[in-house]
Amino acid sequence: MRRSADVVVIGAGAVGAAVAWFATRAGLTVQVLERGQIAGGTSSACEGNLLVSDKEAGPELDLALYSHDVWTGELDEYAGLWEFERKGGLVVAASSTGAEGLRALAVRQRAAGIEVTDVPADRIADYEPYLTDGLAAAAHYPQDCQAQPMLVTAHLLRMAREAGAGVSTGTTVTGLLRDGDRVVGVRTDRGDLTAGAVVNAAGTWAGEVAALAGVRVPVMPRRGFVLVTEPLPPTVFHKVYAGEYVASTQSSEEGLQTSTVIESTAAGTILVGSSRERVGFDRTVSLPALREIAAKALTLYPSLKDTSVMRSYLGFRPYCPDHLPVIGHDPRAPGLWHAAGHEGAGIGLSVGTGKLLAQALSGVAPDLELTPFAPERFGDQVLRETPA
Ligand SMILES: Cc1cc2nc3c(=O)[nH]c(=O)nc-3n(C[C@H](O)[C@H](O)[C@H](O)COP(=O)(O)OP(=O)(O)OC[C@H]3O[C@@H](n4cnc5c(N)ncnc54)[C@H](O)[C@@H]3O)c2cc1C
Repeated sequence: MRRSADVVVIGAGAVGAAVAWFATRAGLTVQVLERGQIAGGTSSACEGNLLVSDKEAGPELDLALYSHDVWTGELDEYAGLWEFERKGGLVVAASSTGAEGLRALAVRQRAAGIEVTDVPADRIADYEPYLTDGLAAAAHYPQDCQAQPMLVTAHLLRMAREAGAGVSTGTTVTGLLRDGDRVVGVRTDRGDLTAGAVVNAAGTWAGEVAALAGVRVPVMPRRGFVLVTEPLPPTVFHKVYAGEYVASTQSSEEGLQTSTVIESTAAGTILVGSSRERVGFDRTVSLPALREIAAKALTLYPSLKDTSVMRSYLGFRPYCPDHLPVIGHDPRAPGLWHAAGHEGAGIGLSVGTGKLLAQALSGVAPDLELTPFAPERFGDQVLRETPA
């Protein structure tokens, strides 16, 4: 058995990549283990919205604002690598009730530090000329950004590797090594590795990794579909979404929920979402979900009615019952750390998570208090659903 690294990171998605990069940069030796390929999990089955606009005041917003500062601060020099765009978000409301909700949310968000401008109905076309007429109001969020998630993951891991980290794909963690209570490494299908700290960045599968240590972390799958159009001339200029989207992110309903989120990509395609369902890891393509997503998008962008959809894809958001991620040391299994459960915001929150966890792993007080994300906050409460 060999001592592999100060830190072993399980999972090469956006979150594991960010942990690896920031921990390596903090001077720790890091080994990333991934059972499949780089970004082979949810980080290649999502969109790249880096949003502050869809969050109410609270710990998730604090993490989003912190992550925004990391994206636009110390990672700014790499922005071109991952198609980072400060394109801003435009949230729209179709009815006067929806407009009131939008305004009220903006007031609360301003108080929490988000930049937001109320956009009256007759100014919406200045932002998005192809949006349908007759919308009641909109709100513009200049801090909303976009990145290409697979490029984020691949480049952060490449940068970590060039700074000395190891990245092993095709390596499944099958157990955790213990010295008494303490987690001191991992067992894999390719041998054992010891480590000072083991980070569970296994995304939607983090509950299974936690179970290897005998601890319960209730991360569950929340399925979502995305439609990809043929490449088009510029049509959608911001992250555009319907006000109802905020409520759907916070809902825990099992049944199908859809709300429109639209953005263009650097390649000219338009990504059209979003859906949410709790159906376990069912990969069956749901025509009702795809139809509903498309129909709702057309109510916002009628000019897309003759546009071809090239393909669709699906992914499983890593979802915790309180909609907050699990970040930090697990006192129930000393030596085990978690960075998982970011639900529909794991790309945006990855870099803040990585930086904060690297600080904690280095024994430095994290810039943000991690208590709201504590792994043991769910206690021994018995879940009604299983993580697999
Ligand atoms: C349809 C959809 C749209 C989304 N849109 C957005 C968006 O616009 N913006 C945003 O910020 N987020 C979005 N998300 C959420 C985002 O994709 C996730 O929160 C994020 O990808 C999670 O990253 P991760 O690194 O935690 O997990 P993953 O990318 O899933 O990585 C975890 C990795 O762990 C590996 N693993 C698991 N178990 C083991 C093991 N035992 N041994 C070794 N390796 C293991 C897996 O193979 C996987 O590669 C969306 C998600 C979906 C489904």
